[in-house]
Amino acid sequence: MHTNRKALWAVRQSGLPTVVRPCPDCSGHRHRPSGKIRVNASGKLLDVWLLLSCAWCDRTSKVAVHERVHVSSLEPARLVAYENNCPSVVQELTMSASLAAKNGYRLDWTGTWRVEPHTPLYALDDPTPLTVGVRFELPAPVRVERLLMLGLGLSRSAVRRMVADGRIRLPQALALDAKAHRDFELTLHGPGAVDEAKQAHLLDTPAVAGVVPSAAQSPHPLRRATAGA
Ligand SMILES: [Zn+2]
Repeated sequence: MHTNRKALWAVRQSGLPTVVRPCPDCSGHRHRPSGKIRVNASGKLLDVWLLLSCAWCDRTSKVAVHERVHVSSLEPARLVAYENNCPSVVQELTMSASLAAKNGYRLDWTGTWRVEPHTPLYALDDPTPLTVGVRFELPAPVRVERLLMLGLGLSRSAVRRMVADGRIRLPQALALDAKAHRDFELTLHGPGAVDEAKQAHLLDTPAVAGVVPSAAQSPHPLRRATAGA
């Protein structure tokens, strides 16, 4: 019987990305947000900067968020958030890929996320397909293969085998070595369909029935991988 089974994997935030660009004072390249935003007004024109601290020497440097913009072009609430160093806006600016591109620096997302996979234990053995919704709490680029390894507790080779066998089905646009940074869905297919096809084949060819069933009863490599994880 086919029921619509669903699971949710959450990609949770465990830190902010590091801003990677040369420090003018030392040979360091890694910066973290200082927690401050600076707003300078010149008549009706505003400059807004995100302030960073060098992780090595602590020197403060600026990232241009808005340059010479008319005060009326900013949402009043947004301006208040800038003036008050609103932590969620500091976070948002620090994680912004467009701000990084505009200012010519790279974001290092290492150690900024973890996966909370809420998958039923029997997911890999149940023949009924399981839809897994992957939800991103932050726009961290996550390699799909690594996400699957962490989500399923499987080795890289086991994940590759399951994708090759069609037991893990990814969206068409998403390759195993691609990086995802926004929500998507995948489906897990149990071994049932494959095994049933094998059984049907065995019934048709009784000559090999004495050999193959013992192979069918041997532990599935995936179960060994799961148990070892
Ligand atoms: Zn420095």
